[in-house]
Amino acid sequence: MVKLATTELAKRTALEGMQIMGGYGYASEYPMERYLRSAVVTTIFGGTSEIQKNIIAKTLGL
Ligand SMILES: Cc1cc2nc3c(=O)[nH]c(=O)nc-3n(C[C@H](O)[C@H](O)[C@H](O)COP(=O)(O)OP(=O)(O)OC[C@H]3O[C@@H](n4cnc5c(N)ncnc54)[C@H](O)[C@@H]3O)c2cc1C
Repeated sequence: MVKLATTELAKRTALEGMQIMGGYGYASEYPMERYLRSAVVTTIFGGTSEIQKNIIAKTLGL
């Protein structure tokens, strides 16, 4: 549950950072795009968010 919550929060936060920085946030000349990719991948490795949700649902007997 912690892995799901924290990585999804990191993804949303990094996306907001990119949005705030506009074009500079997207450009590879600046580190923001790297921060977003680094945040997004945490929702993929070590069990994707979808799989985490499946595991949580199964654990709760849903
Ligand atoms: C940078 C990086 C480092 C990694 N390091 C390691 C490592 O050290 N050791 C290791 O073993 N692996 C590692 N991996 C692999 C990683 O664990 C897998 O990428 C991850 O498990 C997802 O598997 P997949 O890429 O085959 O995606 P898929 O399983 O093909 O999933 C594709 C999409 O379908 C969704 N999906 C799949 N099945 C279901 C389902 N049943 N219900 C709902 N949605 C589903 C997924 O959530 C995802 O959105 C790494 C990956 C990356 C990107």
